[in-house]
Amino acid sequence: MATITFVGLGNMGGPMALNLIKAGHSVYAIDLMPELVESLVREGAHKAQSLEDAVKTSDVIITMLPAGKHVASLFLGEPNAKQGLLEQLSNKPLIIDSSTIDAATARSVHDACRENGIDMVDAPVSGGVAAAAAGSLTFMCGGDAVAFEKAQPILGAMGANIFHAGPEGAGQVAKMCNNMLLAIHMIGTSEALNLGANNGLDPSVLSEIMLASSGKNWSLEKYNPYPNVMPTSPASNDYRPGFMVDLMAKDLGLAMENAVETSSKTPLGRAAHDMYVDKQDSGEGKKDFSSILEDIAK
Ligand code: NAD
Repeated sequence: MATITFVGLGNMGGPMALNLIKAGHSVYAIDLMPELVESLVREGAHKAQSLEDAVKTSDVIITMLPAGKHVASLFLGEPNAKQGLLEQLSNKPLIIDSSTIDAATARSVHDACRENGIDMVDAPVSGGVAAAAAGSLTFMCGGDAVAFEKAQPILGAMGANIFHAGPEGAGQVAKMCNNMLLAIHMIGTSEALNLGANNGLDPSVLSEIMLASSGKNWSLEKYNPYPNVMPTSPASNDYRPGFMVDLMAKDLGLAMENAVETSSKTPLGRAAHDMYVDKQDSGEGKKDFSSILEDIAK
């Protein structure tokens, strides 16, 4: 069993770290919010004096942070300000970054790891908070074969599907493609359910029909955006996240930047991006991303 420093105990990181504890790993809980640390300590995690202290005795560091700037600042530091963590890791732990970030930042952390003789995988996840709690996440990994081999048994305690997408940054590219598709089918599902409801159909019945037909997709099957069709989905819980509009807008921003860089046509991705950014601008960034149905139903 490994000693693991887990940084970022939010909606996803909290349940992921808990699964590592349940699997018998020794976990140091690190977050800016003390109540999240305390909550995991009550479940068996260790409290460290500081992040720097925790990593000294850790075999693995896992990060589950909001965006690229948080990951870069933690590992690489900031110009003329704080030192990056990488320079302090004389014990050379394996680094697993499971945050969803841009591939360029992931590659720059990989480069710095290589310079310091440290193995790293970028390993963003899919599945949402339910899969994080159930330990059934999908991990999409980027990095060399040695780092991937080392990461696999650790990721196995948190996920059901572990893919080696390719070299450094490839996990983030796979995640970016997946989340653009997720946004598109969430919006499409919302449009279909709203159209049916406006024609007098019961959204639960319409959902059942489409689930047995060619419109079947993950948003409809696992995360129905229409209130009270699926008791466990955020739609039946005042659109509490789940997966925030802010994070989906971030992911679509990464996809749109990359589409420009690689001259890839993404007309539906662009439309989805604009809808989520509008929602964010109207002050609804903290709602679950399935609340896009409310905008369609207005
Ligand atoms: P969150 O905002 O709930 O959690 C992030 C946590 O990181 C917070 O608790 C915050 O306090 C902590 N944090 C930020 N900077 C820190 C620092 N320097 N040191 C220590 N802690 C720090 O976000 P989340 O929903 O858990 O998402 C985390 C990542 O996972 C994001 O990149 C997101 O895009 C991705 N993701 C989320 C979902 C989902 O359904 N929520 C699904 C797949 C991927």
